Amino acid sequence: MTEKFAEVAIALPIDRVFHYAIPEKYSDCIAIGKRVFVPFQNRTIVGYVVGFSDESDVKEVKDIGSVIDEEPILSEEMLKLTNWIKDNYFCTWGEAIEAAIPGGIKKGKVAIGSKLKDSQIRLEDFPPSSPHILTEEQEKALKIIIEAVEKGEYKTFLLHGITASGKTEVYLQAIGEVLKKDRQAIVLVPEISLTPQTIERFISRFGDRVAVLHSKLTPAKRFLEWKKIVDNKAQIAVGARSAIFSPMKKLGLIIVDEEHETTYKQDDVPKYHARDVAEARARLNSCPLILGSATPSLESYYRAKKGEYKLIKLTKRIEERLLPKVKIVDMRMELATRKRVAIFSKVLLDAIDRTLKSGKQAIIFLNRRGFSTFVNCKKCGLVLKCKRCDTVLVYHFDEKKLICHYCNYRTQAPDICPNCKYGYIRYFGLGTERVESEISHNFSHVHIARMDSDTTIKRGSHDRILGEFKAGKVSLLVGTQMIAKGLDFPKVTLVGVVSADVTLNLPDFRASERTFDLLTQVGGRAGRGEDGGEVIVQTYAPGHYAILTAAKHDYEKFYVEEIASRKELLFPPFINLVKVTVRARNEDLTSRTAGELTEAIKAEDKSMKVAGPAPAPISRMRGYFRYNILLKDKDRHAMCELLKKVLGTFRKPHGVLIAVDVDPMSM
Ligand SMILES: [Zn+2]
Ligand SMILES: [Zn+2]
Repeated sequence: MTEKFAEVAIALPIDRVFHYAIPEKYSDCIAIGKRVFVPFQNRTIVGYVVGFSDESDVKEVKDIGSVIDEEPILSEEMLKLTNWIKDNYFCTWGEAIEAAIPGGIKKGKVAIGSKLKDSQIRLEDFPPSSPHILTEEQEKALKIIIEAVEKGEYKTFLLHGITASGKTEVYLQAIGEVLKKDRQAIVLVPEISLTPQTIERFISRFGDRVAVLHSKLTPAKRFLEWKKIVDNKAQIAVGARSAIFSPMKKLGLIIVDEEHETTYKQDDVPKYHARDVAEARARLNSCPLILGSATPSLESYYRAKKGEYKLIKLTKRIEERLLPKVKIVDMRMELATRKRVAIFSKVLLDAIDRTLKSGKQAIIFLNRRGFSTFVNCKKCGLVLKCKRCDTVLVYHFDEKKLICHYCNYRTQAPDICPNCKYGYIRYFGLGTERVESEISHNFSHVHIARMDSDTTIKRGSHDRILGEFKAGKVSLLVGTQMIAKGLDFPKVTLVGVVSADVTLNLPDFRASERTFDLLTQVGGRAGRGEDGGEVIVQTYAPGHYAILTAAKHDYEKFYVEEIASRKELLFPPFINLVKVTVRARNEDLTSRTAGELTEAIKAEDKSMKVAGPAPAPISRMRGYFRYNILLKDKDRHAMCELLKKVLGTFRKPHGVLIAVDVDPMSM
């Protein structure tokens, strides 16, 4: 090596690479993709070597402290990919790199003790499976995909298959072809579907050639799975969001299952969307990408319609099973005839009764946890709110506490109003706890289980509940969106949706899409066996197109309605959105700063479409007031550059925080 300076990326929010001189003793071992210790503002930190140069723009260049790695931990491809993330998601190169390597090796060295077992997977738990015979539709889909695998060319397929149409079998057989060509595959699934059911399908088919990556692994175990891929002992990575950074050297296929899931978007910096990173990576590797879903995101379906993606449809369920019949129950009528707010309509109660009497199972879905979601005083009307957030507190019966679902603030539920010291406290609104309690009240001999983030905090409880349901020990499962996806239990013949309105009323332009998606997904849990199935949807908005089209299993019609509204209101997929959030503990300071920042953005680029500033839907969170500014443009990169420029010179008052989110998933 003769280069004088190393270009080092550092995982700090400073948008540049730093130059360090290479001492003689390191000139042989330093290389691009290796980590180095470098002095930085009176401390020593880890940096990543991303390049070399003969000149430096800094006068006094410091020396590299030491070289950490024997072999580069970042390939040239990974450097390109992380650089792409930097350009598109308003972060620095170092921050993007940090997201791409497993936690275990971030802090410097990794101790691989002899105590660690080879893998967390016990193969004997997974009976081997051979490829299934495909339906005509599956066969056709597979053929098109295999052609692209064989050519080794970049192409994105949108596999739009209704629930239980056998998408996974198509993935498995496509991966089989990839392995035959001595190449590797990445399969992304939402964290929520990383259940034993999903993992089992991959391991049963491919055994120890599968590495499983998810957030519940300890950093050391995660590193071991990562190492299995580096050493090419595993050729298939199955995992959540960050598995897109699996260190494959001969990538032949990427699959993003349930591509519409919002959990593919990372909440922390870098706030990347794994589906888009998957597309960038497929391009870099000239390999095909499959996006699979029963309810494709509007973004992906729009691109498929425009011909940017190749659309493949699976319109029939396997084994010629029928889609469940969906009945919409108008709760306004129920209210009128029964003169009080009922949780369950007569139709739903009768259906539960019928199902249980015939020895079948039911799933009752409500996308809100807790017992009562609205607590107020009978006398003065005071609504109990969180101290730190502009949100109402939810009563949790199990803990006898009022809890804020945004900051986890907890307080004792008072008997007497803390305001007027006179009135009694009333409880309104529905959560899964209340649903569970009402059902046990109505059906006292039935075994019920509840699955939501309150009952699954303990490690293993998620698997235990599903195991009991599968074994038939539990005949009725109540839950949030945790039970809406991916579950495949043939004895479930009834799915009840207690209120479709929860997601429909969210202050978000994706509210209709989320509602359609959830209703379709949860309904898809019914009738996967021989006995057929029915779905009952309770709502106060029975005429809403998201509910009507979901009931008819008509994605196309939903898409036509929804895309028209997105076009009119100028929302994705017609533009990209960048959300700038200004936060401070003082409301005046927050709104003033947000106003000044908006002016600065408009002054820098007069043609940029800027909306706001406006208070965020939850205007205060964890004690901070929040104002949003929205930028709308087709070019993400241009918006990022504009913001980097403006924020680089913007005089931010003390105590104000500014965050930028590209393609935000919530407002
Ligand atoms: Zn009161
Ligand atoms: Zn709170």
